[in-house]
Amino acid sequence: MPADTLSSISAGALLAMPRAGARDTRPGLAGMDPDALAAWMLERGEAAYRARQVADFLWDRGAVSFEQMRTLPAVLRDGLEAAFRADTLVETTVLPADAGLTEKALHRLDDGRLVESVLMRYPARDGLRERNTVCISSQAGCAVGCPFCATGELGFLRDLETAEIADQVRFWRRRLAPLGDRVTNVVFMGMGEPLLNVERVLAAAAALSDRRRFGLGARHITLSTSGVVPGIERLTALRPQYTLAVSLHAARPGLRDVLVPLNRRYPVGEVVRAATAYADATGRRISYEVVLIDGINDTPRDAAEMARLLRGRLAHVNLIPMNPVAHTPWRPSPPERLAAFAEVLRAAGLATTIRRNRGLEIGAACGQLAAEQAEAPTPAAVGRRRERLERESAAALAGGGA
Ligand code: SF4
Repeated sequence: MPADTLSSISAGALLAMPRAGARDTRPGLAGMDPDALAAWMLERGEAAYRARQVADFLWDRGAVSFEQMRTLPAVLRDGLEAAFRADTLVETTVLPADAGLTEKALHRLDDGRLVESVLMRYPARDGLRERNTVCISSQAGCAVGCPFCATGELGFLRDLETAEIADQVRFWRRRLAPLGDRVTNVVFMGMGEPLLNVERVLAAAAALSDRRRFGLGARHITLSTSGVVPGIERLTALRPQYTLAVSLHAARPGLRDVLVPLNRRYPVGEVVRAATAYADATGRRISYEVVLIDGINDTPRDAAEMARLLRGRLAHVNLIPMNPVAHTPWRPSPPERLAAFAEVLRAAGLATTIRRNRGLEIGAACGQLAAEQAEAPTPAAVGRRRERLERESAAALAGGGA
């Protein structure tokens, strides 16, 4: 990594850091429900307002250690230190890109696992207010194994705890505060499949949208999924106001089996049906994400199939050129193919946006930095993987799974 693009920020927990690989069993404070924290205080004979004070330090002032909670009695700070972690991110490395409009953070957790989060800044323009969107991880690695994704290449390592998810947002809050800025949007689109860690993801989203804690409007939080139907149904039953983003990538089942292997378990038709039920229950438009890969899923036939699948639904489609990753033979769709695909969808009455990739020079693909830090696969393994992908996608393109 070039030294001039690297800055390292300690999250303040180095002293309490256990051996690499071992887990710190103290729960992270950011994952504590306020009522549970108040009950913990009462059990210790502390006044209930102490819980409010701790929450202020944590969420409003961005504390990363109990030492910083100076107005609490020393004995209470010691008790908190023994029972909880003030911050679950042990160390964070930040890489800037796009002339400072994008920053990517690599967070080291207490067991040495690495996860990523990204800040994307959108200056005010065309009557729209400035936005600071933070993209966060919900798992270390991912079991879904989408072949165009660097995280999928890592495999599943573990679920993140509620606090480990929320602390990524608190990190960016601290980073923005000295600039007079704040996090305006959070998207669960980093490493992992959020709805395979659904209870902790819901708890983290609740903490972020709770006025007593982070206080972000629920409509400013996006939960994404590659199509975990039971997770979507769980959300629908709760009827929150979060935006649901579905990573679609292909409408044809055979091709989607290759691009999103979870399609073999939850076929695309069921996924779209479940997402539509969420839209009906909440009145919230579903965001369908489509990563377009040159010559693979960007053909006129694929655009027509997608238009047919989504026509008439409460939907917005985001077309995103693929981020190049080493282990695939694939390239991003060229701009004219993206434009043609968008035209077909718009002609079917679907709101469609072409997104541009952020932070290409810092490995913008989800999981790319963590994958680079992990043990690299051998060139032979990469070669075998590329061959298999070429074979499978060729079969799907030859007409299978129309
Ligand atoms: S794209 Fe998302 S669901 Fe697919 S492997 Fe990557 S992190 Fe997992």
